Amino acid sequence: MIKTRSDEYCDEARRCIPGGVNSPVRAFQSVHDSPFYVKRAKGAYLYDVDGNSFIDFVSSWGAVILGHADDALIGAVKDALDDGTSYGACHPYEIELARLIVDAFPSMECVRLTTSGTEATMSAIRLARGYTGKSGVIKFRGCYHGHVDSLLVKAGSGLATFGIPDSAGVPADLAKHTYVADFNRLESVRQITGSSDDIACVIVEPIMGNMGVILPEDGFLKGLESLCRERGILLIFDEVISGFRVAFGGAQQIWGIDPDITCLGKIIGGGFPIGAFGGKRHIMERLAPLGDVYQAGTLSGNPVAVRAGIHVLGRLGSGRGEIYPGFARMGERLSAAMLETAGQHGVPYRINAITGMFTGFFSRDAVTGYDAAAACDRGLYEKFFKGMLAEGVFFAPSQFEASFFTCAFSTAEIDRTIEAAGKVFGTILKR
Ligand SMILES: *Cc1c(COP(=O)(O)O)cnc(C)c1O
Repeated sequence: MIKTRSDEYCDEARRCIPGGVNSPVRAFQSVHDSPFYVKRAKGAYLYDVDGNSFIDFVSSWGAVILGHADDALIGAVKDALDDGTSYGACHPYEIELARLIVDAFPSMECVRLTTSGTEATMSAIRLARGYTGKSGVIKFRGCYHGHVDSLLVKAGSGLATFGIPDSAGVPADLAKHTYVADFNRLESVRQITGSSDDIACVIVEPIMGNMGVILPEDGFLKGLESLCRERGILLIFDEVISGFRVAFGGAQQIWGIDPDITCLGKIIGGGFPIGAFGGKRHIMERLAPLGDVYQAGTLSGNPVAVRAGIHVLGRLGSGRGEIYPGFARMGERLSAAMLETAGQHGVPYRINAITGMFTGFFSRDAVTGYDAAAACDRGLYEKFFKGMLAEGVFFAPSQFEASFFTCAFSTAEIDRTIEAAGKVFGTILKR
């Protein structure tokens, strides 16, 4: 694979951008590689500056669910641009997008738009603290909720420990209000709620997507919901990935959960910067200007992002009868074939999947939680990643990420991926 131009851009970028990237995972560091530079994207493909093309399973981390540069979406965005790029004032389209969201998510009686998923989770936490008058936040080891100070925390070791910041620059005084529990282990949450009565909220990715895909086990989400209700703790569902992806109404539709606050992002902006958080009216109305919890944004409800979002949610809503079953069928076919070839070549490989997203883990054992995911063979993943890239298939440059289908995927892309995986699995155990 020729990378001459990408390498030149990479050198140039490193001189004026820290690490050459505007978001760390793009640096390909965890697979010990350097990034390719995208020239353009269309449908299921990325095209780089050296003339390579890749089937794109990253799909802007799931944001471009219609596929890249979808013609009708681009048309809607061009119309929006003709009307101006930002108003800093009210416009009718923000009501339309809010309606689409609250209609799809019955737990959300009203919703506020932000400019990123990080702002949505950050604001949801502040709101929960303001509403309950408490400071503690429970999160799960391996769940990522954006780069919010209070949420950049995972456990050192042991359960129910005070949080230790994952990042320099997060004051220990702040991190100590973050408690870390284990996904799929309700008992670990109970231990925390049993020892502190200062808990404002529990925030969870109902389907873990940022440690690779890890599904909630039977009863986990329901149990979490009951525990929160019992203790007067707000339940925040971070559906920034799963919202409008695993089902039109997100993971909460599948598992029948009624969270107090839900965070959305990625898909709802059609590839433009956006986020949203919403929930019960009596909670949301604590936000300024009605209430005492401050939250704002110059570009919040940006008319271009909003009109892109309206287009995408409209398409997903009217096409949901075909789109989601289509994702499920593609997922099943790809999983079955990849597991089969991995098995033939003796590669330890497991796939966790749900409609529209999956992760292939290099592991002999089932991956049901953080520890099992962390124990995967990252060296094998690196070889797999590089091999697939050379075959023209772009998976995430880290073992701990999800892969995403878009509406632009067809059987042709699935067939090509299966064929490439056959070759790559055949070589990765050799040195
Ligand atoms: C991507 C992501 C976020 C953060 O969204 P940004 O738009 O990157 O700030 C929050 N939560 C989850 C689950 C995510 O995957």
